[in-house]
Amino acid sequence: MKRLLVTAALPYANGHIHLGHLVEYTQTDIFVRAWRMRGREVAYICADDTHGTAVMMRARQEKRSEEAVIEEMSAAHQRDFAGFSISFDHYGSTHSPENKAFADHIWKSFRERGLIRSASVRQLFDPVEKMFLADRFVKGSCPVCKSPDQYGDNCDKCGSTYDATELIDPKSTLSGAKPELAEAEHHLVSIESERPWLTEWTQVEGRMPKEIANYLMGFFLGKPLLDWDVSRPAPYFGFPIPDAPGHFFYVWFDAPIGYIASTKQWCDRTGRRFDDYWRSEETEIVHVIGKDIVKFHTLFWPVMLKVAGFTLPSRVQVHGFLTVNGEKMSKSKGTFVLGSKYLEHLDPAYLRYYYASKLGPKVDDIDLNLEELAARVNGELVNKVVNLASRSSRFLAKTGFAASYPEDGGLFDEGARAHDEIVAAYESWDFARVTRVAMALADRANEFVDRAQPWALVKTPGKEAEVVAACSIALNLFRQIVIYLAPILPKLAEDCAALLGAPLDRFEAAKKPLAGTPVGTYQHLMKRVEPEKVQKMIDESKPAETTTTPTLPAPASTPSTAAVEDSGEPLAKEPIAATCTIDDFTKVDLRVARIVSAEAVPEAKKLLKLTVSLGGEARRTVFAGIKAYYKPEDLVGRLVIICANLAPRQMKFGLSEGMVLAAGAEGEAFVLSPDSGAKPGQRVH
Ligand SMILES: [Zn+2]
Repeated sequence: MKRLLVTAALPYANGHIHLGHLVEYTQTDIFVRAWRMRGREVAYICADDTHGTAVMMRARQEKRSEEAVIEEMSAAHQRDFAGFSISFDHYGSTHSPENKAFADHIWKSFRERGLIRSASVRQLFDPVEKMFLADRFVKGSCPVCKSPDQYGDNCDKCGSTYDATELIDPKSTLSGAKPELAEAEHHLVSIESERPWLTEWTQVEGRMPKEIANYLMGFFLGKPLLDWDVSRPAPYFGFPIPDAPGHFFYVWFDAPIGYIASTKQWCDRTGRRFDDYWRSEETEIVHVIGKDIVKFHTLFWPVMLKVAGFTLPSRVQVHGFLTVNGEKMSKSKGTFVLGSKYLEHLDPAYLRYYYASKLGPKVDDIDLNLEELAARVNGELVNKVVNLASRSSRFLAKTGFAASYPEDGGLFDEGARAHDEIVAAYESWDFARVTRVAMALADRANEFVDRAQPWALVKTPGKEAEVVAACSIALNLFRQIVIYLAPILPKLAEDCAALLGAPLDRFEAAKKPLAGTPVGTYQHLMKRVEPEKVQKMIDESKPAETTTTPTLPAPASTPSTAAVEDSGEPLAKEPIAATCTIDDFTKVDLRVARIVSAEAVPEAKKLLKLTVSLGGEARRTVFAGIKAYYKPEDLVGRLVIICANLAPRQMKFGLSEGMVLAAGAEGEAFVLSPDSGAKPGQRVH
């Protein structure tokens, strides 16, 4: 089998890793780990993209060298990636001698083929900073829809793309000065001569998602390809062009060359042969990119590789963007969440699993809905998967697995047969299917455990062997599921391997149950998502000034209030009760409580049985008539308000020791929660 070289796009050294970035690095990591679990040789290569005006300006503002800026950022990026278990084989930098050598080599190859020409380009120039302005450093009004404050390349409002010179009232974002038009010599690469083979290459089945291949055909490959401007005049942070003094390679020229240079560093470090990776038919190269950089990776990049004698990628995998709660990530809403901020509050496994459950083979945007994340992790990973181990492993701590795998009615075999579907789903980037198959297996395993009830059996003398048999089945089914999920949840797989004393590093291991081997002491494998921690992460992601200002209702004139105009109906339906005194009110002792468990009462149509904590050891059982409106798993972990001194009431199903406060008329219920920060046991005044 061929070896694989997989790359993720290089993050830019001017910003930290956020949850949007992680869609890419996570899915690439899952893919890579899945191939490793098939015993295939695969290298996962990445690097920081370091050059360009943005880094140069940042260094100037911070009064330090560009090298200092990019070194610090590279360390931060690598820390964040490690925190999310992204398993790069090598993480380099485009600001390296290797990258310079390869950039020079590719440039020379273009020269030799006669594909480079010089031209005078009219560009906006900042007279104060004495430099030409990249599109992102000019703002003005959109020439199409006239919206103010738009960048020099496209309009956020109407989506038009245009030339920076077309902006109305342009301003340099560096100095605020009005830019002037000035002429500069630029170097351009012509790729039109390569269009015939390039067209054929892009249209090969499986080369890239179909919709991307069609897009290239429809927008670019049906007509002559434009020359590509690959140089920038000084001052610029980058590599000087060897035969053009005063000119530098445009950041987009040497950035992807970083894939090659980083591989070279890895080969040198580990004693591998570089040519086996970038100059060999025995290696398949897979690039994973976002849909915003498709043009570059499917038109210019293949030409650069071919002209310079490198292997072309066999696959360009393209993914969509991330929205959070249905909207663009927003700093003011706190949904622009940095990876490091996420890690302060939440387990990276949650995000890996959630993203996987959303990623199909198509180039769709994915939405991070934080409530859904909590519900899925709690309902699927914790309740269905991890619970299998916590409910069975402790009964095997003394005996270990049964000496031979017990009769299980075909459950394990059924799971073993899912092997091929799981492998195929990973191979086709359909990670959502992996999670669906795994959850279906988990459902069947849980049905088995619910029937077998080892926790009840264990109390009956003489049933010891049955307990061991039932738990050996349950724990093996758990292990099988975790093997299938291991590329998505590497930490869980590691912990499971430690618990069971057997590695989970091959999918093949899912075909053979463990028997006669010891079982370790159960340690918590995964905690439930706590909604307050999610909220804390969001709160802390908001700009400082908005977190310290209390949220005030919007003034009546803004359109947003019209959208939430409240009806008079509730008050009309249920008029306000007779006046009470403050003494009357204080008789009612309302407390903050945390729901620690919730379950449906099977015999009661309306009731959920809740166990709530009032802090420390104080627990209450409360029956609440909200079964029709809430799933039990969605309530666990929530802070609520209870009436704590209500006389206990004996019900058919048990003693109810309080009441959970909820709003709503007949046919609806909205459970009340305090703002985040409230603690169980606190009194409501
Ligand atoms: Zn516009």
